[in-house]
Amino acid sequence: MSVMIPFDNSYARLPDQFYSLQRPEPVRAPRLVAWNGELARILGLPAEAGADFAQVFAGNEVPEGAAPLAQLYSGHQFGSYNPQLGDGRAILLGEVVGTDGIRRDIQLKGAGRTPYSRMGDGRAWLGPVLREYVVSEAMHALGIPTTRALAAVETGEKVIRERVLPGAVLTRVAQSHLRVGTFQVFAARGQIDALAQLTDYAIARHYPQAEGPMGLLTAVRDAQAELVAAWMAVGFIHGVMNTDNCAISGETIDYGPCAFMDTFHPNTVYSSIDQFGRYAYSNQPDILVWNLAQLATALIQQIEDREAAAEQATEIVHAMPDRIRAAWLRRFGAKIGLAEPRPGDEALVNGLLQRMAEQQADFTNTFRALADGAARDQFTDPEAFDQWEGGWRARIADEADPVRVMRAANPAVIPRNHRVEQMIEAAVAGDYAPFERLNRVLAHPYDDPSDAADLKRPPAESEVVRATFCG
Ligand code: AMP
Ligand code: MG
Ligand code: MG
Repeated sequence: MSVMIPFDNSYARLPDQFYSLQRPEPVRAPRLVAWNGELARILGLPAEAGADFAQVFAGNEVPEGAAPLAQLYSGHQFGSYNPQLGDGRAILLGEVVGTDGIRRDIQLKGAGRTPYSRMGDGRAWLGPVLREYVVSEAMHALGIPTTRALAAVETGEKVIRERVLPGAVLTRVAQSHLRVGTFQVFAARGQIDALAQLTDYAIARHYPQAEGPMGLLTAVRDAQAELVAAWMAVGFIHGVMNTDNCAISGETIDYGPCAFMDTFHPNTVYSSIDQFGRYAYSNQPDILVWNLAQLATALIQQIEDREAAAEQATEIVHAMPDRIRAAWLRRFGAKIGLAEPRPGDEALVNGLLQRMAEQQADFTNTFRALADGAARDQFTDPEAFDQWEGGWRARIADEADPVRVMRAANPAVIPRNHRVEQMIEAAVAGDYAPFERLNRVLAHPYDDPSDAADLKRPPAESEVVRATFCG
């Protein structure tokens, strides 16, 4: 008896040019190493994993009602258009409508080759699987829209990267895996019927109040503007914001070389493949505007009066920077205790950020310490903070409860890179205690965990992670 999953697969009902039917490729000796009981319950699955779950979430057994497939998409990778990408190592098992009424994809990542694998092996190694598990769940706990992690399985097989590494499969859950690149592929191929059908599908699934392609574009813009402001506010760097890694739902997706900043600097880049810093921390808002422009370019292909549509789309895209700025100010205002920031407050926030960058202040700990009156200790030259503090104190004097506002906006713990790396190393050696502890503590990032001082500390010089990898 396999696990019963109440599938209802809307994507598989779309025409077959949207995907390739593809069963996962079985693995030798699957072992379930993580099961997200809280998420399982929302999906209508058992909170406790059963004996046969390893087989199912490794892809060895396809559960009843699943319609396994690899989705087609294309996308701009580092600014250059790649006409065909698609799920090269991910297989959508199907969708379930959760107890909260939300439809979600259940996808296996690392489940073997597909028609879109090109030179890849279709596999993932344990490191990126556990990294995505921990970081995506941490993002969810931080209140940031994201795909989630339901399960992780070790395959019992090796994968070859720079080294020989243990293989793994992640079960990822998303409101959908529709990407900017899903629209691009049909637009670029001139498959206008498919493009129109995809547009209707995306509207029905994510933005039922939106009207037509331009309504969809507007809704995606607003969701993405909120999302990137939320990333900025926790010091998150996605790392590979290619248009194929940009979800229409407004969820954070495709955790690869992502990282949270320790020491603040706007130009921070961790990804080993981002040579020119295209996806650096402070570039993220501009990149999302650029990605939205690519979505606009795709969407207008289905509109008869192309010229009028292009004009309208341009207006929608051009309004995005202001939306991002407003969302940014609301979030960073809250980080310094302002419940309702005013236009002039932007300069106040930037004054702090500039001093933090100059004085190598830890991003997370500096903001968290503001509420405790201990932020000056975070600066190499504390006087730099003192010069800013007076203006800030004067401003928050107008506020009803700035400490409460700050505590709710500034997490005490984030998944620091060195802790993530140490967790992976331990798991590869068979010790899952650090993985479990990270998940436990990061589930409540705004509480001050008294037993996790080590997780709040920035890395020692010898622990600093300077580069992250796609896996
Ligand atoms: P990413 O940048 O990780 O989102 O991946 C870009 C493209 O490469 C997507 O089409 C992936 O499915 C594909 N890809 C990444 N890793 C592999 C792999 N190990 N095997 C096959 N395809 C892969
Ligand atoms: Mg097909
Ligand atoms: Mg991707």
